[in-house]
Amino acid sequence: MNSFQPPERLLMGPGPSRIDPRVLAAMANPTIGHLDPQFIILMDEIKELLQYVFQTENEATFPVSGPGSLGMESCLVNLIEPGMRVVVCQNGFFGGRMREIAGRLGAEIILIEESWGRAIDPQKFRDTLKKHSDVRLVAFVHAETSTGALSDARTLVEVAHEFDCLTLVDAVTSLGGCELKTDEWGIDVCYSGSQKCLSGPPGLSPVTFNERALQHIKNRNSPVQSWFMDVEEVLKYWSGGLKRAYHHTAPINNLYGLHEALLLARKEGLENAWKRHFQNHRALVAGLEAMGLKMAVPEKERIPQLNAVEIPGGVDDQRVRMKLLNEYNIEIGAGLGQMAGQIWRIGQMGASSQAEKIIRTLRALEQLLREEGLQIPEGVSEKAADGVFAGA
Ligand SMILES: *Cc1c(COP(=O)(O)O)cnc(C)c1O
Repeated sequence: MNSFQPPERLLMGPGPSRIDPRVLAAMANPTIGHLDPQFIILMDEIKELLQYVFQTENEATFPVSGPGSLGMESCLVNLIEPGMRVVVCQNGFFGGRMREIAGRLGAEIILIEESWGRAIDPQKFRDTLKKHSDVRLVAFVHAETSTGALSDARTLVEVAHEFDCLTLVDAVTSLGGCELKTDEWGIDVCYSGSQKCLSGPPGLSPVTFNERALQHIKNRNSPVQSWFMDVEEVLKYWSGGLKRAYHHTAPINNLYGLHEALLLARKEGLENAWKRHFQNHRALVAGLEAMGLKMAVPEKERIPQLNAVEIPGGVDDQRVRMKLLNEYNIEIGAGLGQMAGQIWRIGQMGASSQAEKIIRTLRALEQLLREEGLQIPEGVSEKAADGVFAGA
């Protein structure tokens, strides 16, 4: 065996996204202790930078040491007590994961189902809350990465508050890629991931809890079932000035990476990042449609940074994706769950969201679709995308 040398891939899937060399370099710095006063300064800066990307002043804002799924589980395990009635919205794979976790925690789930590829319907949401007036928590996914559908988080949170419910929002794919305003929209608890639009190292999950949510947790009748994820315990490490208690050994070098990625995000500015993702989304869609492909999600409900496109009839899903990877070094995502074999998920997240990378992806896909037998005039996708970039 030799040291591992990964191939140089262009990551245009649903995450992880490309990591900037400055972030990789930060992670190669020497490891220091997780209670070193210098490390505590870094933790405080990460908290401040996360408050910026979440657009929140919540004190309880920190990265869970684990992937987005652990962030999801952390939020649910803190908020749910056995027997509690919880509304969970499911319009794709990740809503289903929330439902699964909530169920294991003993919640009595009231499910709002929406077809895959569509946003959650606010009217159905309102009707359900009206009918179940004893519900105190609602959970939904903002950007459903499995289908490419973006729900109107602002409206859903507003409706939930009319019925006095706490809101838990999955912002794994939305954070840093499209508009998300935790405080202004009134989101009570929100979690995300490091490896999507923040373009940090995989394995960290930024979360934020407001005062109302912390009060709800304080008032629990039973202890949080997970010791590791109990937010009151974790906060003894993630807040409190220089007086920190050991909770677990933080993933030190990963946090160096997250810090650098967040610095880059702040330097660009959130609104500029949202605009960049949207512009590149428009160019990508123009290119895909110029090849005769059809987007899987209605225009007004699309996640800019995750584009679900229908696989044309007669085209071999697996063969095209494998050739993209092996011949062009480009990764795109397959369909998940009930959409497997039906769609491709083309991401353009964080540092992967650049004009030149969109063009490279379109060129390769165009060539491979011709090899699959589609009649596509050479260069049409690039021309259509260029048209969007030129108009910007
Ligand atoms: C990726 C993703 C997750 C899970 O994140 P992991 O880091 O893979 O555990 C959860 N929710 C959504 C919407 C995602 O896109």
